[in-house]
Amino acid sequence: MPPTPCSICQRERAMLRRPKTLQRLCRSCFYAVFETEVHQTIQRHGLFKRGDRVAIGASGGKDSTVLAYVLKLLNERYDYGLELFLLSVDEGITGYRDDSLETVKRNRDQYALPLKIISYEELYGWTMDRIVEAVGRKNNCTFCGVFRRQALDRGALLLGVDHIVTGHNADDVAETVLMNILRGDIARLQRCTEIMTAGDAEGAVRRSKPFKYAYEKEIVMYAYFKKLDYFSTECIYSPNAYRGYARAFLKDLEASRPSAILDIIHAGEALLIRADVKMPTQGQCERCGYVASNRLCKACVLLEGLNRGLPKLGISGRASVPDGPAVSAKQP
Ligand code: SF4
Repeated sequence: MPPTPCSICQRERAMLRRPKTLQRLCRSCFYAVFETEVHQTIQRHGLFKRGDRVAIGASGGKDSTVLAYVLKLLNERYDYGLELFLLSVDEGITGYRDDSLETVKRNRDQYALPLKIISYEELYGWTMDRIVEAVGRKNNCTFCGVFRRQALDRGALLLGVDHIVTGHNADDVAETVLMNILRGDIARLQRCTEIMTAGDAEGAVRRSKPFKYAYEKEIVMYAYFKKLDYFSTECIYSPNAYRGYARAFLKDLEASRPSAILDIIHAGEALLIRADVKMPTQGQCERCGYVASNRLCKACVLLEGLNRGLPKLGISGRASVPDGPAVSAKQP
């Protein structure tokens, strides 16, 4: 049987089937369409402006590694005029994050990008290993997620950057849409589809997801064919069963109709917030000064619980705690 030609250039032999469209493509055309689509997303949504200092949230995993590679490439190819940095958070997870940070350090050298690593230990006086000892394996990701968000903002302030980009891909966004629908969380539903969130005066830095429309399978394919150096082990504390259900459901949908991922994102974008849904107003944490929708920011509430030996305090849904010894997210 003669080899199948690439459906774009018609010259080269097709080496892969593109997961998003099922087109048979040669490697060069796959690279070209993948990179061009990310460029178009950046342009269409006006993610950057010339002179921006941009931190790439780098975990060493496939998404952030491909993001660092592609963003550097597009910045040079289209002369965006960006100053790029790698910003990593060390959660203090022995046997996982220490290894993945070694990958980020190699990426720093491979892509010649400055790297800043910021740790939970230095910011909060706790590592995730110790938090898991205190809270068990059920709610650990709640602590980790809250602390990471703030740690990235604090790292960005230290670097003096205007913008953080993260490697969230289309599958991540579609999963989050599904989870918010399943939980009936209308307020989060629209926010989770936003490609960019604005920064503010209280320390939250502008964030965006240039891979919002990039399929996970294509990111893996791109990393594989380009032989990028990334870390593929799952976090040892990863339970997140609920997201697992949404992920499994999404993969089933994708198997029967590849456009399902984009369709779910578009459905999430189209669902308007009802006028009577109360959105939280943003203020400043009384303790650490970080952005907060209550008297204390969520990180300070969680820290208060940890430091008082009452780790459930912060995850019970209570946003404020009784006055006690001042325990705050340490300023770097
Ligand atoms: Fe943190 Fe949970 Fe992710 Fe592990 S799986 S890095 S504990 S959020």
